[in-house]
Amino acid sequence: MRTLVAHASYSFFKRWAYINTQASIDAQWMTYEEIKELQWGKLKRLLRHAFENAPYYNAMFQGKAIYINNMNAEEFARIDVLTKDIMKRQQCNLIAFKKSKLHCHFTSGTSANPVRVFRDTAADFSARMDLYRANLWAGWKPGKRVVWLWPEQKMVGVLEKLRRRAVEFLKNEKLFNPLNDEQYCESLTEYIRIKKPAIIILYTSFLRRWLEYIQCHHVAMPVLEAIITTGDTLSNQQRELLKEIFKCNVFNRYGAGEFGGDFGMIASECDAHMGMHISAERFIIEVVDEKNNPVGPGKKGQIVITDLENFGMPIIRYKIGDIGMIMNERCLCGRALPLLSHSLFRKIK
Ligand SMILES: [Zn+2]
Repeated sequence: MRTLVAHASYSFFKRWAYINTQASIDAQWMTYEEIKELQWGKLKRLLRHAFENAPYYNAMFQGKAIYINNMNAEEFARIDVLTKDIMKRQQCNLIAFKKSKLHCHFTSGTSANPVRVFRDTAADFSARMDLYRANLWAGWKPGKRVVWLWPEQKMVGVLEKLRRRAVEFLKNEKLFNPLNDEQYCESLTEYIRIKKPAIIILYTSFLRRWLEYIQCHHVAMPVLEAIITTGDTLSNQQRELLKEIFKCNVFNRYGAGEFGGDFGMIASECDAHMGMHISAERFIIEVVDEKNNPVGPGKKGQIVITDLENFGMPIIRYKIGDIGMIMNERCLCGRALPLLSHSLFRKIK
């Protein structure tokens, strides 16, 4: 039954996805200069909107005499960084749309009290299309069986959970909420052996326990097409183990719930595996020193993110709490989207 439904939804989804992702797919081949021009145009629109509609930014821009018309890299660096703490305290003053029209997400990380982040519909849709593009890089196509090892958000309501189960069914996907006990690892391993999915998308923090189980019990796993990892840092040792066990390539990603919940991807590896391509048509990523001054490519520092698409609750120069580095190298695949090093990320808190 499930196979029949999956095949029926395949042709519909293929057509829908093709129509709606063409802009995202085209954008990956922009030149570096085209990306910069697009970013500055989007940034100025976002800053104007934030100034006119979000009291937090209105007060800050006026207080620091920040002129949007004269915006350049130096002027942009004068904007105060946004932190999770400010986001929590100033939430009402950050919202720049009618709140009832926005979608609620939560900040990522280990904190027991995630902060609510509101996003407009267009921004969420764009995040989904970006994820679709990155999945294509890993060899995914609509209809291929995908298993997600993914922590389900606790604050999602019953109706939303039902909706998600229906979508999973139609897309031939299966979600496992990762647990770190032996019985869970056993049932997951058996499911993967029997169902033989094409792709597994997993949360890296769960990986250590599951890999231990597979090695300890000498389980022969099926050959997959790809494994996509996100969440915590993926070590070289874990990457090599995954490649050895599943005989497939591993595609690491960097994302956060602030930028679209489960679809909140910021950067992703292509099949050249040189680093993670920043979705530069959607984000400006800076790496800054302890005084919040940008340090430029090739130097490690704290990651600061500007979301160019969320006009519902503008997130401008957001210090997310991760450490990283923008690479000097251009990717061999030919895409000019800048690369983030995939070995440095970790939550400071
Ligand atoms: Zn590439």
